[in-house]
Amino acid sequence: RESYKRIAQVEDKVQAFVTLDEERALAQAEELQSKISSDHKGMLFGMPIGVKDNIVTKGLRTTAASKMLGNFDPIYNATVVDKLQASDAITIGKLNMDEFAMGSSTENSHWAKTKNPWNLDTVPGGSSGGSAAAVAAGEVPFSLGSDTGGSIRQPASFCGVVGLKPTYGRVSRFGLIAFASSLDQIGPITRNVEDNAYLLEAIAGLDPNDSTSANVPVPNYRAALTGDIKGLKVAVPKEYLGEGVSEEVRASVREALKVLEGLGATVDEVSLPHSKYGVATYYLLSSSEASANLARFDGIRYGYRAENAENLIDLYKKTRSEGFGDEVKRRIMLGTYALSSGYYDAYYKKAQKVRTLIKQDFDQIFEQYDVVIGPTTPTPAFKIGEKIDDPLTMYANDILTIPVNLAGVPGISVPAGLSSQGLPLGLQIIGKHFDESTVYRVAHAYE
Ligand code: GLN
Repeated sequence: RESYKRIAQVEDKVQAFVTLDEERALAQAEELQSKISSDHKGMLFGMPIGVKDNIVTKGLRTTAASKMLGNFDPIYNATVVDKLQASDAITIGKLNMDEFAMGSSTENSHWAKTKNPWNLDTVPGGSSGGSAAAVAAGEVPFSLGSDTGGSIRQPASFCGVVGLKPTYGRVSRFGLIAFASSLDQIGPITRNVEDNAYLLEAIAGLDPNDSTSANVPVPNYRAALTGDIKGLKVAVPKEYLGEGVSEEVRASVREALKVLEGLGATVDEVSLPHSKYGVATYYLLSSSEASANLARFDGIRYGYRAENAENLIDLYKKTRSEGFGDEVKRRIMLGTYALSSGYYDAYYKKAQKVRTLIKQDFDQIFEQYDVVIGPTTPTPAFKIGEKIDDPLTMYANDILTIPVNLAGVPGISVPAGLSSQGLPLGLQIIGKHFDESTVYRVAHAYE
């Protein structure tokens, strides 16, 4: 009820949610009443949570912010949603996003443009803009996002909240509407690091329904929040504080590094020489995978179906022309081109090779260092409309988050002060594969 009270106060301004169902949420809460004095309460007992609208929820409309799935009512829950239920959390509603998670501003939603609660003229980031804005606006204390190239960390940074992209394989993707399957991960967005650690623990682990989920034990992440980072080795890639990164963003990272040094960590400058190819590599690979994943939206099996088609091919064409937005079409065309015979070797295969080099950059650094630190984004939140007509400028904004997805390692964004305009800045802390504990330990000591 508190959550819905807050939503009633601010939602018409923020527009973080696509679907709200108060009755359903209250019914879930009602069911928990009987457990109130039991010793077997789940670790998120009674906690209100918002779920990004590309994560399927049984009986609760799930649209991925696309006209294509405008009336889609899933017949099963994503594994993470089952796990939230098993932890006794209460699903408040579904959160706005860029259509099929393609974007960095939530302006690509079929529904509404979510606003950044810090300044309603600016974007909340994307694609999990609704998930970050809802937490920043106090509508829910917890949300789930998904991160293929930065879509949890970038909006967390823009909205002044904490967002973690787990290691690839840490969290099941079963029931996450696929964008780029070799990069997609679901992760938690919260107000602070401790809450984040709780939520990751609740959703992580091996899932027989997702063969890319890893058989690696899930630690008690809260136990890592000791405040002790003495002797910890921090690497700062010079590419992360270079050209294109605004001076106030650089200054906030330098401040943060001083804090960490004050706590006993050592800081060295290093190089990730291939990170400059990250954006090109990512947009080729993610679009290629998206072009294959989105082939299923054909107007036959589920979702939107165009009317007045003359034959089967016409039905496909009309359905896909009418059902997908511009950015999604751009990605499908780019990906189909990169995968086509004659271009495959020059684009897709080459991008795969560069991906390996980007991963090897991280492997080398992590032989000697515990974490890699830099900014989450080159600038704070930009104005609504500022970049929407210039896809390349929009893509370039992802330069600091993308290498982390390509390498498969975990990364978090934690608030790191405000810009001169009063907008949040974010610090990105990147760790070794499956070492979210150290990422959390550093983030918690800093926050
Ligand atoms: N902004 C990136 C894109 O548009 C990342 C999206 C994401 O992580 N889902 O593809």
